[in-house]
Amino acid sequence: MRRKLAAGNWKMNGTGASLAELADLGERHADPAVDILICPPATLLSRAAEAVQGGAIAIGAQDCHAEAAGAHTGDLSAAMLKDAGASAVILGHSERRADHSESDAQVRAKAEAAFAEDLIAVICLGETLEQREAGETLKIVGDQLAASVPDSATAANTVIAYEPVWAIGTGKVPTLEQIGEVHNFLRTELVHRFGAEIADGIRLLYGGSVKPGNAGEIFAVANVDGALVGGASLKAADFSPIIETLENA
Ligand code: PEP
Repeated sequence: MRRKLAAGNWKMNGTGASLAELADLGERHADPAVDILICPPATLLSRAAEAVQGGAIAIGAQDCHAEAAGAHTGDLSAAMLKDAGASAVILGHSERRADHSESDAQVRAKAEAAFAEDLIAVICLGETLEQREAGETLKIVGDQLAASVPDSATAANTVIAYEPVWAIGTGKVPTLEQIGEVHNFLRTELVHRFGAEIADGIRLLYGGSVKPGNAGEIFAVANVDGALVGGASLKAADFSPIIETLENA
Protein backbone atom coordinates (compact mmCIF):
# COMPACT_ATOMS: atom_id res chain seq x y z
CA MET A 1 0.00 0.00 0.00
CA ARG A 2 1.20 3.49 -0.80
CA ARG A 3 1.21 5.84 2.17
CA LYS A 4 -0.70 8.94 1.18
CA LEU A 5 1.05 12.31 1.04
CA ALA A 6 -0.25 15.83 1.63
CA ALA A 7 2.38 18.23 0.29
CA GLY A 8 2.26 22.01 0.59
CA ASN A 9 4.10 24.34 -1.76
CA TRP A 10 4.42 27.80 -0.24
CA LYS A 11 6.07 29.15 -3.41
CA MET A 12 7.46 32.70 -2.92
CA ASN A 13 5.35 33.27 0.19
CA GLY A 14 6.31 33.42 3.81
CA THR A 15 8.65 35.07 6.28
CA GLY A 16 9.57 34.19 9.83
CA ALA A 17 6.04 35.06 10.95
CA SER A 18 4.70 32.16 8.84
CA LEU A 19 6.44 29.64 11.09
CA ALA A 20 3.49 30.05 13.46
CA GLU A 21 1.35 28.33 10.80
CA LEU A 22 3.80 25.44 10.79
CA ALA A 23 3.69 25.16 14.56
CA ASP A 24 -0.11 25.23 14.43
CA LEU A 25 -0.16 22.51 11.77
CA GLY A 26 2.24 20.38 13.80
CA GLU A 27 0.00 20.64 16.86
CA ARG A 28 -3.08 19.68 14.86
CA HIS A 29 -1.30 16.69 13.28
CA ALA A 30 1.04 15.19 15.85
CA ASP A 31 0.40 11.60 14.72
CA PRO A 32 -1.03 11.73 11.20
CA ALA A 33 -2.17 8.72 9.19
CA VAL A 34 -0.59 10.25 6.07
CA ASP A 35 2.76 11.85 5.28
CA ILE A 36 2.84 15.64 5.50
CA LEU A 37 5.41 17.73 3.65
CA ILE A 38 5.70 21.51 3.67
CA CYS A 39 7.95 23.22 1.13
CA PRO A 40 8.61 26.81 2.27
CA PRO A 41 10.88 29.25 0.46
CA ALA A 42 14.59 28.46 0.87
CA THR A 43 15.04 31.35 3.31
CA LEU A 44 12.82 29.51 5.80
CA LEU A 45 14.15 25.98 5.36
CA SER A 46 16.35 25.72 8.42
CA ARG A 47 13.93 27.60 10.67
CA ALA A 48 11.04 25.48 9.40
CA ALA A 49 13.03 22.30 10.03
CA GLU A 50 13.67 23.48 13.59
CA ALA A 51 10.01 24.39 14.06
CA VAL A 52 8.81 20.88 13.15
CA GLN A 53 11.57 18.97 14.95
CA GLY A 54 10.19 16.04 16.92
CA GLY A 55 6.89 16.19 15.04
CA ALA A 56 5.44 14.46 12.00
CA ILE A 57 5.85 17.19 9.38
CA ALA A 58 8.70 16.92 6.88
CA ILE A 59 10.27 19.94 5.22
CA GLY A 60 11.08 20.21 1.52
CA ALA A 61 12.58 22.72 -0.87
CA GLN A 62 11.12 24.02 -4.13
CA ASP A 63 14.09 23.56 -6.46
CA CYS A 64 17.75 22.58 -6.52
CA HIS A 65 20.68 22.89 -8.89
CA ALA A 66 21.87 19.81 -10.74
CA GLU A 67 25.51 20.39 -9.78
CA ALA A 68 26.88 19.58 -6.34
CA ALA A 69 28.72 22.93 -5.99
CA GLY A 70 30.32 25.67 -8.03
CA ALA A 71 29.93 29.01 -9.74
CA HIS A 72 26.11 29.25 -9.89
CA THR A 73 25.16 32.52 -8.25
CA GLY A 74 21.85 32.40 -6.47
CA ASP A 75 21.40 28.64 -6.81
CA LEU A 76 21.32 25.98 -4.13
CA SER A 77 22.61 22.42 -4.31
CA ALA A 78 20.79 19.36 -3.04
CA ALA A 79 23.45 18.98 -0.34
CA MET A 80 22.76 22.53 0.88
CA LEU A 81 19.03 21.83 1.07
CA LYS A 82 19.66 18.66 3.02
CA ASP A 83 22.03 20.53 5.32
CA ALA A 84 19.27 23.10 5.94
CA GLY A 85 16.88 20.35 7.02
CA ALA A 86 15.03 19.39 3.84
CA SER A 87 14.18 15.76 3.15
CA ALA A 88 12.49 16.40 -0.20
CA VAL A 89 12.53 18.85 -3.09
CA ILE A 90 9.88 19.85 -5.62
CA LEU A 91 11.32 19.70 -9.14
CA GLY A 92 9.98 20.80 -12.51
CA HIS A 93 7.07 22.80 -11.12
CA SER A 94 5.31 24.45 -14.07
CA GLU A 95 6.19 27.88 -12.66
CA ARG A 96 9.88 26.98 -12.84
CA ARG A 97 9.45 25.40 -16.25
CA ALA A 98 7.82 28.67 -17.42
CA ASP A 99 9.76 31.30 -15.45
CA HIS A 100 13.19 29.68 -15.84
CA SER A 101 12.70 27.72 -19.07
CA GLU A 102 13.49 24.48 -17.28
CA SER A 103 13.62 21.52 -19.63
CA ASP A 104 12.75 17.90 -18.88
CA ALA A 105 16.46 17.07 -19.14
CA GLN A 106 17.29 19.66 -16.49
CA VAL A 107 14.55 18.38 -14.22
CA ARG A 108 15.91 14.86 -14.61
CA ALA A 109 19.45 16.02 -13.79
CA LYS A 110 18.15 17.84 -10.72
CA ALA A 111 16.29 14.72 -9.61
CA GLU A 112 19.51 12.71 -9.91
CA ALA A 113 21.26 15.33 -7.79
CA ALA A 114 18.46 15.06 -5.22
CA PHE A 115 18.73 11.26 -5.12
CA ALA A 116 22.49 11.54 -4.52
CA GLU A 117 21.70 13.41 -1.30
CA ASP A 118 18.86 11.08 -0.30
CA LEU A 119 16.25 13.75 -0.94
CA ILE A 120 12.84 12.70 -2.23
CA ALA A 121 12.16 14.31 -5.62
CA VAL A 122 8.58 15.51 -6.10
CA ILE A 123 8.61 15.73 -9.91
CA CYS A 124 5.85 17.86 -11.43
CA LEU A 125 4.27 17.52 -14.84
CA GLY A 126 1.14 18.73 -16.52
CA GLU A 127 -0.36 20.13 -19.69
CA THR A 128 -1.31 23.70 -20.59
CA LEU A 129 -4.91 24.57 -21.46
CA GLU A 130 -3.94 24.82 -25.12
CA GLN A 131 -2.48 21.32 -25.03
CA ARG A 132 -5.56 19.91 -23.29
CA GLU A 133 -7.88 21.54 -25.79
CA ALA A 134 -5.79 20.11 -28.61
CA GLY A 135 -6.26 16.61 -27.15
CA GLU A 136 -2.56 16.30 -26.36
CA THR A 137 -2.71 15.81 -22.59
CA LEU A 138 -1.60 12.18 -22.38
CA LYS A 139 1.14 12.68 -24.96
CA ILE A 140 2.48 15.73 -23.08
CA VAL A 141 2.46 14.17 -19.61
CA GLY A 142 3.78 10.88 -21.00
CA ASP A 143 6.71 12.67 -22.65
CA GLN A 144 7.40 14.70 -19.49
CA LEU A 145 7.32 11.56 -17.38
CA ALA A 146 9.69 9.74 -19.72
CA ALA A 147 12.17 12.62 -19.91
CA SER A 148 11.98 14.13 -16.40
CA VAL A 149 12.10 11.01 -14.25
CA PRO A 150 15.52 9.32 -13.90
CA ASP A 151 15.99 5.60 -14.51
CA SER A 152 17.06 5.32 -10.87
CA ALA A 153 13.62 6.38 -9.59
CA THR A 154 12.15 4.20 -6.86
CA ALA A 155 9.09 4.32 -4.66
CA ALA A 156 11.29 5.67 -1.87
CA ASN A 157 12.97 8.50 -3.77
CA THR A 158 10.30 9.69 -6.20
CA VAL A 159 6.83 11.22 -6.05
CA ILE A 160 5.07 12.35 -9.22
CA ALA A 161 2.72 15.34 -9.10
CA TYR A 162 0.23 15.76 -11.96
CA GLU A 163 -0.54 19.47 -12.08
CA PRO A 164 -2.47 20.78 -15.07
CA VAL A 165 -0.93 24.22 -15.64
CA TRP A 166 -4.37 25.76 -16.18
CA ALA A 167 -5.57 24.52 -12.79
CA ILE A 168 -2.74 25.97 -10.72
CA GLY A 169 -3.85 28.97 -8.69
CA THR A 170 -6.89 29.51 -10.92
CA GLY A 171 -9.72 27.86 -8.98
CA LYS A 172 -10.33 25.67 -12.06
CA VAL A 173 -10.14 21.91 -11.53
CA PRO A 174 -10.30 19.14 -14.13
CA THR A 175 -13.25 16.79 -13.95
CA LEU A 176 -12.75 13.71 -11.81
CA GLU A 177 -12.76 11.66 -15.03
CA GLN A 178 -9.95 13.79 -16.44
CA ILE A 179 -7.89 13.41 -13.25
CA GLY A 180 -8.54 9.66 -13.20
CA GLU A 181 -7.60 9.28 -16.84
CA VAL A 182 -4.22 10.97 -16.37
CA HIS A 183 -3.40 9.19 -13.10
CA ASN A 184 -4.26 5.77 -14.55
CA PHE A 185 -2.18 6.58 -17.60
CA LEU A 186 0.79 7.66 -15.47
CA ARG A 187 0.57 4.48 -13.36
CA THR A 188 0.53 2.36 -16.52
CA GLU A 189 3.51 4.23 -17.97
CA LEU A 190 5.42 3.73 -14.72
CA VAL A 191 4.64 -0.01 -14.77
CA HIS A 192 5.91 -0.29 -18.35
CA ARG A 193 9.12 1.51 -17.52
CA PHE A 194 9.97 0.36 -14.00
CA GLY A 195 7.98 -2.83 -13.56
CA ALA A 196 4.99 -3.32 -11.29
CA GLU A 197 6.94 -3.68 -8.05
CA ILE A 198 8.55 -0.22 -8.24
CA ALA A 199 5.69 1.49 -10.11
CA ASP A 200 3.03 0.36 -7.65
CA GLY A 201 4.90 2.09 -4.83
CA ILE A 202 5.44 5.47 -6.50
CA ARG A 203 2.96 8.01 -5.22
CA LEU A 204 0.98 10.07 -7.71
CA LEU A 205 -0.24 13.41 -6.37
CA TYR A 206 -2.83 15.65 -7.96
CA GLY A 207 -2.16 19.39 -7.81
CA GLY A 208 -4.16 22.40 -8.98
CA SER A 209 -6.62 24.41 -6.89
CA VAL A 210 -7.12 21.69 -4.26
CA LYS A 211 -9.18 23.16 -1.41
CA PRO A 212 -10.94 21.75 1.65
CA GLY A 213 -14.20 21.78 -0.36
CA ASN A 214 -13.02 19.66 -3.30
CA ALA A 215 -10.36 17.46 -1.67
CA GLY A 216 -12.76 14.61 -0.81
CA GLU A 217 -13.92 13.91 -4.34
CA ILE A 218 -10.40 14.25 -5.75
CA PHE A 219 -8.92 11.85 -3.16
CA ALA A 220 -11.60 9.28 -4.06
CA VAL A 221 -10.21 9.03 -7.62
CA ALA A 222 -8.22 5.85 -8.27
CA ASN A 223 -4.45 6.32 -8.27
CA VAL A 224 -4.61 9.70 -6.52
CA ASP A 225 -2.29 9.19 -3.57
CA GLY A 226 -2.51 12.70 -2.19
CA ALA A 227 -2.10 16.29 -3.29
CA LEU A 228 0.42 19.00 -3.95
CA VAL A 229 -1.28 22.12 -2.64
CA GLY A 230 -0.26 25.72 -3.22
CA GLY A 231 -2.54 28.48 -1.91
CA ALA A 232 -4.47 26.32 0.54
CA SER A 233 -1.26 25.13 2.23
CA LEU A 234 -0.28 28.57 3.52
CA LYS A 235 -2.66 28.57 6.47
CA ALA A 236 -2.94 25.66 8.88
CA ALA A 237 -6.69 26.27 9.07
CA ASP A 238 -6.98 25.56 5.32
CA PHE A 239 -4.41 22.78 4.97
CA SER A 240 -5.48 20.86 8.06
CA PRO A 241 -8.93 19.85 6.71
CA ILE A 242 -7.28 18.72 3.47
CA ILE A 243 -4.95 16.50 5.49
CA GLU A 244 -7.90 15.13 7.48
CA THR A 245 -9.80 14.43 4.29
CA LEU A 246 -6.81 12.51 2.94
CA GLU A 247 -6.53 10.54 6.19
CA ASN A 248 -10.14 9.46 5.78
CA ALA A 249 -9.98 8.77 2.03
C1 PEP B 1 1.01 24.36 -6.84
O1 PEP B 1 1.62 25.39 -6.69
O2 PEP B 1 1.63 23.31 -7.02
C2 PEP B 1 -0.45 24.39 -6.80
C3 PEP B 1 -1.10 23.30 -7.07
O3 PEP B 1 -1.05 25.59 -6.48
P1 PEP B 1 -2.60 25.85 -6.10
O4 PEP B 1 -2.99 24.76 -5.12
O5 PEP B 1 -2.63 27.19 -5.49
O6 PEP B 1 -3.38 25.72 -7.36
